[in-house]
Amino acid sequence: MRIVALAGGIGGARFLRGLRQAAPEADITVIGNTGDDISLFGLRVCPDLDTVMYTLGGGINEEQGWGRADERFTIREELAAYEVGPSWFTLGDRDFGTHIVRSQMLDAGYPLSAVTEALCARWKPGVRLLPMSDDRVETHVVIEDAEGRRAVHFQEWWVRLHAQVPARSIVAVGAEDAKPAPGVLEALEAADVVILPPSNPVVSVGTILAVPGIRPAVAAKTVVGVSPIIGGAPVRGMADACLTAIGVETSAGAVAAHYGPDLLDGWLVDTADSDLDGDLDGIAVRSRPLLMTDVDAAAAIARAALDLAAELGS
Ligand code: GDP
Ligand code: CA
Repeated sequence: MRIVALAGGIGGARFLRGLRQAAPEADITVIGNTGDDISLFGLRVCPDLDTVMYTLGGGINEEQGWGRADERFTIREELAAYEVGPSWFTLGDRDFGTHIVRSQMLDAGYPLSAVTEALCARWKPGVRLLPMSDDRVETHVVIEDAEGRRAVHFQEWWVRLHAQVPARSIVAVGAEDAKPAPGVLEALEAADVVILPPSNPVVSVGTILAVPGIRPAVAAKTVVGVSPIIGGAPVRGMADACLTAIGVETSAGAVAAHYGPDLLDGWLVDTADSDLDGDLDGIAVRSRPLLMTDVDAAAAIARAALDLAAELGS
């Protein structure tokens, strides 16, 4: 079986670890969000790709959900001593290693897809990890505060401002001119099923779908999604602030309707949202526990997603 999943960071990575366990024989391709990518200290940082790579490769800081396990922060201390910022974005020494290798390869002319493949040669994530695009796409957030109306990088809004300042709009800068990375459309074309893990519908999955060509290629397949919203709130993070910015209510049903029946065939919601069970304007909704408390729980959710896809695809 050939499975393609579109993934952001933590929600995507934890789901994928379950998917890999649920379907050990499957050929899994992951299309990763690169809209969160940022240049810091002269280095290119790809937080979502790295979260997937570290989580599936056994190098993740489990409690935190991002960054490396057994991390140390000497470089950060040295940068602070020089008063070189930003100080709000935490990078540990081990993590710096990844960004140095990536930046060196990018500077040498390798596309991000080739760099990602090279990094994965070490981590062996057990899936094929592709960036959504080799072209630069950056999510910017238009905010208005005491300093006036301006656009900031998504990471500044998310990490420094904790999404506390309302977003007027969220823009994937460069998306419309971006091309899917090599292998992305081919993997979608060959897929038996496409899964949308419980990643942020706006700045993770939404950004991937904004790359021209990806959305129609996904929509042509049997697509099952897993809700990141349970009982009207995100399980973790501030996805509600992103949904509000695009005028979508923070509920499992509203997110399904936002993706739309042209894209989604099936939608898993939590038992807290079991009132949605049945048909939602052409989308088959099933409720089950959706908390990824451990790998087994994530695997059970992944199995349910594959079962629903099998039911709907036949
Ligand atoms: P990010 O890039 O690190 O923000 O990660 P993603 O975009 O991949 O995922 C973020 C989303 O994961 C958030 O909106 C959370 O609600 C969702 N999420 C995190 N843990 C769980 C969980 O255990 N179950 C479900 N259903 N969603 C989760
Ligand atoms: Ca992210």
